[in-house]
Amino acid sequence: MSADARTMAYRVGRFVLDALAPHRCVSCGNIGSVVCAECLKKVKLHKQITAGPTPLDAIVSGVDYDESIVKELIHNLKYNSLKDAANPLAEILSEVLKPMLQPNDVLVPIPLHRKRKAVRGFNQSELLANAIGEKLSVPVENLLSRNRNTKPQVECDAHERRTNLHEAFSSTATNAKRIILIDDVTTTGTTFVEAAKALRKVTDVPIIGLAVARGG
Ligand SMILES: [Zn+2]
Repeated sequence: MSADARTMAYRVGRFVLDALAPHRCVSCGNIGSVVCAECLKKVKLHKQITAGPTPLDAIVSGVDYDESIVKELIHNLKYNSLKDAANPLAEILSEVLKPMLQPNDVLVPIPLHRKRKAVRGFNQSELLANAIGEKLSVPVENLLSRNRNTKPQVECDAHERRTNLHEAFSSTATNAKRIILIDDVTTTGTTFVEAAKALRKVTDVPIIGLAVARGG
């Protein structure tokens, strides 16, 4: 079987499984949803706001990556293509974003390269941005695209992390007054910085990077 056929078979299999088997809570195992309301309530929010680095105005995160329920949800979303894991993560992000939201803010998801998006079936940052956008009535603009298929940042050493994403993004024009970049996890902030550099070529409005979790 070719890689594409395997991917397709996997996605069809996943779809059938999703349709047949109800979700189990990633924490307590109760049947019904990806994470039950009780367990979601146990997630310890640890909102962190750090200034910069240029050209970002700030990086904001909702929890620490070692928060086990969130880690489990992100892992399932990204590596098991469990689309429904995006909703509880978007709830956490909405809670973090709500008090700092300004009129005319625009959400911009960090893009995946089309090849990686084809394998996963979706871009997790786009799912998160769309869910938050709907919840808080904030427009989502897919301004960014990936110029090349880079190695995942988690697989890079410290030096590679800084150079891996150099000029990896490009942006289309926008009239946004403030941009909130959306991603699942931020570690060194390099992804946000490189995305912001691409945005700087088309706009000089404030840019904030917002991630569910920090660390990882
Ligand atoms: Zn539970």
